[in-house]
Amino acid sequence: MTLPTVAIIGRPNVGKSTLFNRLMQRQEAIVNETAGVTRDRHYGEAEWLGQTFRLVDTGGIVAEDMSELMEAVQAQTEYAMAEAQLILFMINAREGATAADHDIAMQLRKIDKPVVFVANKVDAAEVEVDLESLYRLGLGEPNLISAEHGQGVGDLLDVVLEALPDTGQFEEAEASVQVALVGRPNVGKSSLVNRILGEQRHLVDATPGTTRDAIDSRVRVNKRLYTLVDTAGMRKPRRIGETLEKTTVDVSLKRIQRCEVAVLMVDATDGIRDQDVRIASYIERQGKACVVAINKWDAIDKKDGTYEAFVQSVAEATPFLSHVPVISLSALSGQRVVKLFPLIDTVFEASRQRISTGQLNDFLKTVTERRPPPLYRGKVVKLSFMLQTYVQPPTFLCFVNRPTGVAQHYQRYLENQLRQTFGLAGTPLRIQFRKK
Ligand code: GDP
Ligand code: GDP
Repeated sequence: MTLPTVAIIGRPNVGKSTLFNRLMQRQEAIVNETAGVTRDRHYGEAEWLGQTFRLVDTGGIVAEDMSELMEAVQAQTEYAMAEAQLILFMINAREGATAADHDIAMQLRKIDKPVVFVANKVDAAEVEVDLESLYRLGLGEPNLISAEHGQGVGDLLDVVLEALPDTGQFEEAEASVQVALVGRPNVGKSSLVNRILGEQRHLVDATPGTTRDAIDSRVRVNKRLYTLVDTAGMRKPRRIGETLEKTTVDVSLKRIQRCEVAVLMVDATDGIRDQDVRIASYIERQGKACVVAINKWDAIDKKDGTYEAFVQSVAEATPFLSHVPVISLSALSGQRVVKLFPLIDTVFEASRQRISTGQLNDFLKTVTERRPPPLYRGKVVKLSFMLQTYVQPPTFLCFVNRPTGVAQHYQRYLENQLRQTFGLAGTPLRIQFRKK
């Protein structure tokens, strides 16, 4: 079962880590007096009245100057809005609502996830709280607490439990992976959908999407749920002409936007074509996990090395997908279709992997010692610190003395080393360089 996630967000120093530590009942996050220390997100489980939930402290990166700091707060806010089922937004009651609090509140008012508003550092009745300024954030009644001393925390947890989405519902929504079957016309997308859906034991349901034609189908394979996105859109056009072909590729591009894992289908009888490469690069740019399926494997003459040669040609045409798993199959005969799903699981998990800051910095030390970055205009380039800021795709922030001085080939080296060390095959990666 997946636990609902509650993320604590807010400006630095409002007391997020203090609350996190109190709820964890053990010291995991670092609490620091000064803004300027670097911290990562911390995860833990919290429990209240028999209900367990996952808690994330987005204490986050605290950078050297104010603009970088606010950028980091922004990144953490976005992260929480995307990943958490409930957002605990904390401000410092003693300071009242600041301009930065208003910025965050504005974003929170727009999302359709429960937001619980917390005003911290109300340690004693004597603390003057400008309630009016808090109400002006437009987030309703503030829950006044003292994270340090515990006042109000029990009441706050009651509010959190009340607002948490129903776990049953949550489990179902969480368990299915959004999969898109994409490729140029005639590679066999409809045939594969029909093959998968045709096996009645797999089909769970078809749910109407947002537009009339976007019907998603949920299937169960090996006990796991998958949503095949936009399966109705795969119905075969009656006549195939230039324009129809173009439309069909565009449909693949739309499908990619909605998916978590793209299965790029190519035709064994045709080899890799320009349109395949175009779709592949779109998958990479959209940051989606990917599996390549070579379809119509039944229709070609196979000798020793046929498969290897095809895999090689995929890697050459799309070097940015060289880490992606490749499977040969036949939608027509059903050969190996079921084997596609464990690959989907693998790349999906890779795309959601979280690597701790500790592991990343051990990694950074090892790989830069093994091969130091090349000089930039005669000056030393020093990568000092690395942390992960996002998943889907895994995104890393690397602090460096000269962000523009990290050579392209060195960036690729880092990426390849990350893939090898942490098993990140099948998902795009992003490494961002920031000035230390
Ligand atoms: P974060 O950056 O939001 O995670 O903030 P921290 O949890 O690191 O807290 C920042 C500072 O505020 C620390 O010095 C805490 O001891 C202090 N602090 C946190 N909660 C309270 C509180 O309820 N009352 C008071 N007086 N100080 C608090
Ligand atoms: P789509 O345009 O990508 O949806 O492709 P279709 O599923 O309509 O398939 C195009 C043509 O390829 C049809 O004639 C299919 O019968 C054929 N086809 C699809 N999959 C296979 C396969 O695995 N083997 C063979 N031999 N033919 C296939």
